[in-house]
Amino acid sequence: MNKETAKSIRKSLTADCTKCFGLCCTALNIVASSDFPINKAAGTPCKNLQSDYGCQIHSDLRERGFKGCTVFDCLGAGQIVSQVTFKGQSWREHPEIGDKMFQVFPIIEQIHEMIAYTAEALSYDIPHALSEKLSVQLKELQNLQSLDAEQLLTLDLVLYRFPLNKLLSETSKAIRESLIAKLPGTKNAKDYDHERANWFGKKLMGKDLRAVNLRGAYLIAADMRNADLRGADLIGADLRDADLRGANLSTSLFLTQMQINSAKGDMRTKLPSHIQRPSHWMN
Ligand code: SF4
Repeated sequence: MNKETAKSIRKSLTADCTKCFGLCCTALNIVASSDFPINKAAGTPCKNLQSDYGCQIHSDLRERGFKGCTVFDCLGAGQIVSQVTFKGQSWREHPEIGDKMFQVFPIIEQIHEMIAYTAEALSYDIPHALSEKLSVQLKELQNLQSLDAEQLLTLDLVLYRFPLNKLLSETSKAIRESLIAKLPGTKNAKDYDHERANWFGKKLMGKDLRAVNLRGAYLIAADMRNADLRGADLIGADLRDADLRGANLSTSLFLTQMQINSAKGDMRTKLPSHIQRPSHWMN
């Protein structure tokens, strides 16, 4: 697959709430916390969900304690479930399909997450053999989007996730090793491997973290102001309240909108082209 096509697939995975029946505001089970002030059972619409599926407090979610709603991103799963799987039928007009719709939503969400990572991997300069395997994987995942609800509910996603994780690790290694070779100084592999590191609140201001493996790292509330994270692999890293003001993440690997929405940043933070600058960063 050519890199431009892969980039456009990655970019297309964004939520279109106008085509969704408020699924994230209804399907999910939410326990009251600092991110969402009320308990909400799975399958029960949030009290703020309007009849047109808009949110009645959309403009001041953070001020009202619903910070989690400004972080969540379904990667376009909501509109696929609403318009493709259930062909434009809503749980409101057809309550009999509600349960199935709410169960299918997190399944499509996980499929979209895997498509996003696969498409991103294919947008890089990687060895041909790896690209071939990723292309096959992408086709298989895209085919899942058109399955009906019954078929989706019987899927074992581990069968897709496990081989994909291996391919994404290989992609990360190939890209980072090529970048590390171009960086000045000694090449101690240990300096670049901080997978699952616990860097909670760590002072990393202005650090050179280029090409570092931060897969699954705990970066909660880390001070990463003006840090250089180009080529760093951030898949699964917990960036909640990490301070990314002025940081360079323009070519960070496998960064998601949800990770960025959960962090702090500003107009100087450099982001990959498939990530939008959160509106709460601009206040
Ligand atoms: S507060 Fe608004 S965005 Fe959040 S779950 Fe409720 S309706 Fe949805």
